[in-house]
Amino acid sequence: MDVHIFWDHGAPEGLAGPAGRLIAAITGTRVKICESPLVLNGYIGHRRQVDAGVVLDGTGTFMHRQGIRGPVLLVIGQDLFATGLDFVFGLARPQTRASVISGVRLSNEYYGRLTNDEDLVERLAKEGSHELGHIYGLSHCDNHECIMFNPHTLDELDGKKKGFCPECSVALEKGKSEMLTC
Ligand SMILES: [Zn+2]
Ligand SMILES: [Zn+2]
Repeated sequence: MDVHIFWDHGAPEGLAGPAGRLIAAITGTRVKICESPLVLNGYIGHRRQVDAGVVLDGTGTFMHRQGIRGPVLLVIGQDLFATGLDFVFGLARPQTRASVISGVRLSNEYYGRLTNDEDLVERLAKEGSHELGHIYGLSHCDNHECIMFNPHTLDELDGKKKGFCPECSVALEKGKSEMLTC
């Protein structure tokens, strides 16, 4: 089942292609990239952040209406939070196969470092592949180098390799084949 990547107009410009190709390589799936057709809801003015839960509600509704059954990864350019958390790099909802990631805290600029598109592409791909992993039924992994490790900082994200550990790779293939048969 193909992965749909919806690239919001506010998401890092010009990086959809390279990030999408890297996600395809990491997850071993085919990806279709397009400009996001979604209207973003869930912006909370005093936090200057978007509620990831609200975004996933909207994404799920859109998928249902359009008959999109496969995983969707939405990439946005606004900071995300989830209930009880100050921020999240991304969030997935396996029940509806919808996920979202934000480019904001993946960029060097956010931390006062020099801009680097290669860094950003790699982080978008790692974070996107992580959320897709959740959609395929994977939980967090203790292996710091595995895509399914849950990073709390940029350095922890950078410490992950561009791949799933052996155990998670097995679970990923199982998740993908189960999605095809249901
Ligand atoms: Zn996670
Ligand atoms: Zn793992």
